[in-house]
Formats: sequence, C-alpha cells, structure tokens
Amino acid sequence: MPPFDPADYDVSELGPKVQGIEGAAELEELLAAEEDGENRAPVLTVIRSRIDKLSEDEDAGDAELDLAGMSAADVGNALQDVDDVDRLRDVLDRERSGEDRDSVVRLIERRIDSLEGGGEDGEAEETEPETPEERHPDLDHPTADKRYVKALADGTYGDMWVYCETQAGDLLDVSREMLGHARTMMDGYNDRYLDDDADPERVVAVLIGSDVRGHADECIELGADVVVYHEDERLERFRHKPYTEVFADMARWGADPPSRDEGEGREGESADWREYDEPRYTLYPATNNGRDLSALVQGELDSGLASDCSGLFIENTVISNPVKTGSAGSNRTFERVLHMKRPDFSGFEYSTILCLDNPNREFHPQGASVIPGSFDLPEPDPDREGLVVEHDADLEDDWFRVDVTEFDRLSAGVDLTGHDVVVAVGRGIGADPTRGIELAVELADAFEDADVGVSRGIVTGSYNFDGHVEQYTREERQIGETGQVVEPKIYVAAGISGAVQHKVGCDESDTIVAVNTDPEARIRDWSDYFIEGDLFEVLPELTAAVKAGELGVAADGGATPAGDADGERESDDDE
Ligand code: FAD
Repeated sequence: MPPFDPADYDVSELGPKVQGIEGAAELEELLAAEEDGENRAPVLTVIRSRIDKLSEDEDAGDAELDLAGMSAADVGNALQDVDDVDRLRDVLDRERSGEDRDSVVRLIERRIDSLEGGGEDGEAEETEPETPEERHPDLDHPTADKRYVKALADGTYGDMWVYCETQAGDLLDVSREMLGHARTMMDGYNDRYLDDDADPERVVAVLIGSDVRGHADECIELGADVVVYHEDERLERFRHKPYTEVFADMARWGADPPSRDEGEGREGESADWREYDEPRYTLYPATNNGRDLSALVQGELDSGLASDCSGLFIENTVISNPVKTGSAGSNRTFERVLHMKRPDFSGFEYSTILCLDNPNREFHPQGASVIPGSFDLPEPDPDREGLVVEHDADLEDDWFRVDVTEFDRLSAGVDLTGHDVVVAVGRGIGADPTRGIELAVELADAFEDADVGVSRGIVTGSYNFDGHVEQYTREERQIGETGQVVEPKIYVAAGISGAVQHKVGCDESDTIVAVNTDPEARIRDWSDYFIEGDLFEVLPELTAAVKAGELGVAADGGATPAGDADGERESDDDE
C-alpha cells in the first residue's frame, strides 16, 4: 500500500509530501499508484527524482563533496538529508577556504542553524535579513552608487508600469501594443488576486520627453488608468542618464523612505496618487532606446530584467530551488509572478524568465522589455477615463553633459516589396560581415530588379560593418514578423536559419533559394532550393550565373536555374 493516495493531492502539495518519504519501497508503491491512476508527468518526475536521490545518497555514503564543481542548488540537494552538524561544519569550512560563495555559505549556515535550533522538517529558520554592508564588511559600500536601495524585504508594490516610447513626436506602436496587453493582464490579475471591494491595481503609462503630455489621452484610451509624464525640452531626444533618473525617480516617488530625500528636487515629497514603494511590474519596448532604458532603470532599482520578450502572463509558481526557498528540500509558492517568455536558440526555443525574491531580499519591479509586434494593437476606447499626473523633479545639469550637436532623420524607410528578387542575409555572414553584405549587394545588382534584406539576427547583432554597407543592415530592411513581408519571384536567404518569425516575412515568395552550411537548418524544410554551402563561396557563383544568363527570373515567376530554363523546380533538396 502506498503511504497515501497521490490522487488526493495536486502537484504542488505532493512535492513536500514526497520529500518527506525516506523508504524506497514506499516511493515505488506511490509511483505505481500514480501510474495506475492520474499518471501526471510532473508527479511521476517528483517521485522518480526522490527515488533517484535516495539511491544516490546510499551510493555516495559519506563521500566528500567536490564543492568547487557544484552549484548552490547542488550543494543544497546534497546536504538536505545530512543531519550531522560536525560534518556540515566541515563542509562549511571547506567552502570558506575554497570558493567562499555567499549563497553556499548561507545555505550551509541555515542548515546548521535549523538543526541546532531544532527547526522542524527542514523548514527555514527565521533569520535576520542581512544588509549588503553586513554581508560584505570588506567593501567600502557595495551599493554606494545607489542612493535608494530598497526592499531587502517587506517592500510594498503595486500596478503595472508601461514605458510608452515616442519618437519624433509620435507614440510608437509597440507602446500601444504593450498598453493593450498590460490592460488584459491587469484585468485578469485584479479578478484573480483582489477582493471585489479592493482597489484594483492599475496600468500606469510613463511618458518622458519634451512634449509628451499630448499622448496621455490616447494612452488612457488604450488601457492606462494613470499617465505619469515628465516634460523638459532637454529630454527631446533619448539620453541615458536623465531618462534613467527620471523613470527611477517616478518609480520610487511615494516610497518609504521617500525618493529624492536629499539634494534638490521635491525633497521627500510623497505622491498622493499611489501608496506603494515601487511598481510591481514594469514593461519597456525592446527598441534601441527601450533596451537601454530598461536595463539601466531595472539596475538602478536593484532588480532584474528579462529582455526581448514576446509573451507575458501572470501566474503563481512553485519553486524548490533552495536559493529561493531558503532551505533544501522544501517548496515555496510565489504568487503573482510575471512569466516572461523570450525566444532563445535563434527563436527555436522559448525560455520563461521569472524574477523571484530570495528569502530576505525582494526583487521588484519584475521587468521585461517587449519585442515590437508581439501583441495585437488594442482598439482605443474613447470612453475610458484616467488620471494624468505630472512628475516635476529638478533635472541636474550634470546629467546633460553629452550634447547632441547634430542628427540625421531618415526621410523614408526602404520598401522591399514589389521587387522581382530579394537577396536576404543573416548571421551566417558573421565570419566577415562587411564582405557578406557586399556579396548580397553584388548578387542583387546582377538582377534587373532586386534589393537586399536582412534577418533580425543582423539588426540586433553587434557586428562592425564598414560604412559603405552599413545602410543595408538597418532595421528598415528586416524581413519577417516584425519587419517587412515580401513576396518576390525569387527570395534568396543566405546564412539564415529559418526561424518562424523570419519565415512569415517571405514564405509567399514564388521561389525560395536557401544557402546554408548546415544541412539540418530549419529553412531547408520550407525552401524550394537548398544549397548546402558557404555563402562566401556560393553567392559569388550565383552572381556569376545570373550575369552569364544561366540563372534568372522565369517569365511565370520563380527561378530559372542552370539547365532548367523553363523555370521548373528540380527538387526540394538540390545542392
Ligand atoms: P541564426 O539563427 O543564427 O542563423 C544563422 C544561420 O547561418 C545558421 O543556420 C547557420 O548554419 C548559417 N551559417 C553560418 N555560417 C554560414 C556560412 N558561412 N554560409 C552559409 N550559412 C551559414 N527574425 C527575423 O529575421 N525577422 C523578424 O521579423 C523577426 N521577428 C521576431 C519577432 C519576435 C517576437 C521574435 C521572438 C523573434 C523575431 N525574430 C525575427 C528573430 C528570430 O527568432 C531569429 O532569432 C532570427 O531570425 C535569426 O536570425 P538568423 O537566421 O540570421 O541567425
């Protein structure tokens, strides 16, 4: 008989119960009961990992831990069943004289405290929060450059703040998209987490610039409950320092201790439109300026950032990592967590980033930057009402030491639609980026009506291009979900892996010719001709073939490859 019926519990309840079982036979019975019953994959994983753990412990016996090769979580797991304080002290001494990692030292100390202090069931003992100064007495002041480090614990947080970027006087679409999605998330949040009679948490739009007050009404129509704005003619163009200072000051405005409690400015004046220390959530656009601002503000507020996200939702989550729970072998439920999904591995995998508190340390606001185009544009609702608040701190002259003496504004973007041929290049040009672009331009020039496009990998990459090709690498030439959608007769994709976000920008082309060194590249699945090879060799050959009349645009669209003058495709796997 299993010790209990697993069907009576959900996954989060089962974790701690399973961790408390010491007998392998009982666990096997529990596993069998789950397999015969609900057969839930996460539950099976929890039970199996407990079985593995017990058998590993048996095998390991008292073997000395190789601390240097272990993460804090590994150490926590390895020590969770060690009740011998002398042995733990020995491990602590070895960590201190070796890697001396704060997180590992604290973890072992807590385990010792809980044993000596009689903590029950491995639960974390209440420990006094340690300030950075207490933990690092050897440093002058570990947070000296931040005047208002808040929330080692017990801060209060509220609302979702959205930085609404404007450019050349216009509100960017990504700002609108974020407002719409923030509205949806906070409506769900208020329904789920707040009592009917509680004040709902709000969407707060943040506008910073020289002349931004005029966008407040639109922000409200798109979903904001409050608009906080700061206007100053010196803020006409984005500047790192003043924009960061203004946003961070807005975010702490009303905090305890109040923001800017020294120096000039409001001198401790507190905001009357809010009652929390800092925003609960912050969203920024993943544009050039938004990326800068998001990292700087989140750092200034002593929190973290998930950059370039394309999916966001708020949910509870159960975590067992001892760094987050405070003790090995226990679970902790974090509520109201912003789940921030971002593409990794060139967009083929999505990671979900969580910004979670440590036992004595809170990380707020939970912040994300959002890729333009990730969310739908909301319908404006002219009947919506909201509060407009002016933020009016003094801006220090020192923040404007960098002068913008000159700037160029592009008169019009590049339109890649309507050409017979588009030659697009991606990160495959990395070995010699300038040459890669030159080769794409040469191939495009060989056709009568062609232009050059790029993948987002080029736009967001940190390549150094020579000046004469730099114009071809800008965002205005990006093909894909968040760029242009083209349908040429021939689309050449060289050094592009074929992420779905790129595919949607070109897969209506008549003929797609991919050039890639990797025969497993995803683009092979949706190209008409796949040339396995190095673009630095293949593109010049294609250019020569076009110039020699061996390759061209067929009368009925598509390509006429050498030896196939009527334009029919040879096979999907031609090389
Ligand atoms: P990689 O994925 O790194 O691929 C490089 C390829 O080059 C590889 O297949 C490699 O085998 C090949 N290669 C390397 N060396 C050579 C060589 N010498 N010769 C030939 N081949 C070589 N992406 C877009 O393109 N457009 C979008 O509009 C877009 N919008 C997005 C929107 C969202 C919401 C998200 C989440 C992502 C978006 N992306 C977009 C990003 C997309 O997910 C990919 O990250 C991106 O397309 C990858 O660019 P890449 O193919 O150039 O680079």
